[in-house]
Amino acid sequence: MKLFPFLAFLFGLCFGSFLNVVIYRLPRGLSVIAPRSFCPTCGHELSWYENVPLLSFFLQKGRCRACGTKISMRYPLVEFLSGALAFYFVAKFDLTLTAFIFYVFSLFLLAISFIDLEHRIIPDELSLGGLLVGLVFSPFNPLVDPKGAFLGALCGAGGFYLLGEFYFWFRGREGLGGGDYKLLAMIGSFLGLERLLSVVFAASLSGVFGALFIALIKRQKISGTTSIPFGPFLALGALLVLLFPEKFATVFSPSIY
Ligand SMILES: [Zn+2]
Repeated sequence: MKLFPFLAFLFGLCFGSFLNVVIYRLPRGLSVIAPRSFCPTCGHELSWYENVPLLSFFLQKGRCRACGTKISMRYPLVEFLSGALAFYFVAKFDLTLTAFIFYVFSLFLLAISFIDLEHRIIPDELSLGGLLVGLVFSPFNPLVDPKGAFLGALCGAGGFYLLGEFYFWFRGREGLGGGDYKLLAMIGSFLGLERLLSVVFAASLSGVFGALFIALIKRQKISGTTSIPFGPFLALGALLVLLFPEKFATVFSPSIY
């Protein structure tokens, strides 16, 4: 049995805990470093044993110890996802720079998804920050080289921007979020140009199913004006392509070029 993936899982849980802080504070303009974690309802400062990833949530039955307010399921979910991704990448690539780069990329995608779902914004700190990280790491990223990363970022942003302009011209209103083209630039810098097509394909497909699902649980009719954030689906698409590159290579055969 290999030990490193399990250690990676534990570290991943802790990173997930920090990611929750980012997801809560960044869109609210609060510092992600200070003060200590607190209950958003009563302000109660969390001691170390109330702040243990996953465990504290389940031991406290998902409630704040001070005021009893329900804690969002997002907290254990983000912690678990972060741990599971760390486990997966280290199990697949060992303790390598590749595993590290892929993991960092997936953390950016997680943070962006949950912030966009809740606030309908993608903070520049994450999209442009992630873009910078993608470009800096590109010499060590097995999926791209620096030129490919730059090209991926450029075409990601440019292509999506043009699509948005076309939509605006066609429908007479904004349909694609302003932050989405920066997110696609970041995704392009990590995955390169060819995989961007797979990402958009996977995002559109999961977006259609997502919209149907949301309409079903809300019992609404979907119309041309139904709006759901596209960012989380782009992030999901990127994650799927990152996790299962072989699957998407067959969906988009290189022969179309
Ligand atoms: Zn509280």
